Amino acid sequence: MWVRTLLKCRICGKLTNLRLGISGPPQQEVKFECLGCRTTIGGTLYIDYENIQTSFKTINCTEVKGDLLSGGDYFIEYSFDRPVAKPSSQPHRLLTPYLRQFPDTEGALDLIARARWSRSISSSDWYNFHSLNNAYIQKNYATFRKIASIYFTEKYPMKKRIDLQQTFYQLHYLFLAPYIPIEKNHDLVLQMTNYIYQKNEPFVSQMQVFVDHLFAMGYLHGWQKDTTAILDDFADNRDWLAPFVVHSLTSRASKDYWLPTEHYPKAKRLYTDMFEVLGRLLMAIVGLNNIEYRGSYNSMPSNVPKSIKNWEDFSELSNALKFKYCQENPFWVSVYNNTFDHKLRNGINHNKAYFDDTSQIISYFPDIQGKKCYQISYYDFMVHTIKTFWALFDLHQLVKVLLVRYYLSSSDRYQEEIA
Ligand SMILES: [Zn+2]
Repeated sequence: MWVRTLLKCRICGKLTNLRLGISGPPQQEVKFECLGCRTTIGGTLYIDYENIQTSFKTINCTEVKGDLLSGGDYFIEYSFDRPVAKPSSQPHRLLTPYLRQFPDTEGALDLIARARWSRSISSSDWYNFHSLNNAYIQKNYATFRKIASIYFTEKYPMKKRIDLQQTFYQLHYLFLAPYIPIEKNHDLVLQMTNYIYQKNEPFVSQMQVFVDHLFAMGYLHGWQKDTTAILDDFADNRDWLAPFVVHSLTSRASKDYWLPTEHYPKAKRLYTDMFEVLGRLLMAIVGLNNIEYRGSYNSMPSNVPKSIKNWEDFSELSNALKFKYCQENPFWVSVYNNTFDHKLRNGINHNKAYFDDTSQIISYFPDIQGKKCYQISYYDFMVHTIKTFWALFDLHQLVKVLLVRYYLSSSDRYQEEIA
């Protein structure tokens, strides 16, 4: 449902015809720039879903009577969960954003199924999600099992017994499935598993040496901790991220879209954190490439700088350089899915980025000299952020495959770990 209202700016007196989408949380901030004087105006939207009523409390503007169809100096659309038209001095288009953006039938059904699934997870479940992650990472397995049994013994009983690792990763699917392209992820996990379990020598024995090293030096648990922290962070922010997941799944053309931007600072932090973790996980990729192309995880590619003599030295390189030397196997490059953009990360992270609220364009300067300016729309940045999360979720599964590879090589290893 959409409603319209005419708002008079307190500073310049110009009229904005606001078209409001009624969806999302019962109380929302609706904030935008008056196109007349570029001051921030808007208000709070209250939605009473039970009585199908809405009210709007204005801030720095007042509601006035007038021609709602074409009256006003400026026309603003606002929606919590749909891309809308850019702010304009032209009257609103007749079709509402919902009708303009409606995806194909199959896509629509997928979105409905995702929404239903995410609604089936309650706040208490999300508390449990955090507790489960904490308990597992801190190796508090008794607590972990107790909470996990709510899901895999009571709610969704499993036909066969699943072990601790499987339970941990299954829970992540159970909670986060509505937010990731699940089929693509399953395909990738299968390909990763086939890759790690190749039977040819010396691959098998060198892989053993590698996973033993990764386990002994704490890398596997460290990576698990890193990726799980991101999943936790994503879960905390899921409500406002969910609409962007929908945009990323439907991948519409972006240049005309305009979206609420109040969470930009949080998005920036999440993106930067994910970038760091993806950078650390390149240690796994370079080790796998070294085994595949040179027979040992320590045999570095010939083009790396002279100071990089072995696998451990590789960690000294910047993330951008690490990625440069991890291009040998196109499969791993495809897992990173074009999301490892160090120019964007450097620009966004070093605060040499400017955000224009009205155009929703982020201008960023990746070089230290700050000369060359790049631009990305907020919409494209958020789609990029969601796709980065998907890459991270895929690599979260790679860590699992490596860990299982370690455990399976000797029957007492797993027993030792969970004792
Ligand atoms: Zn104004």
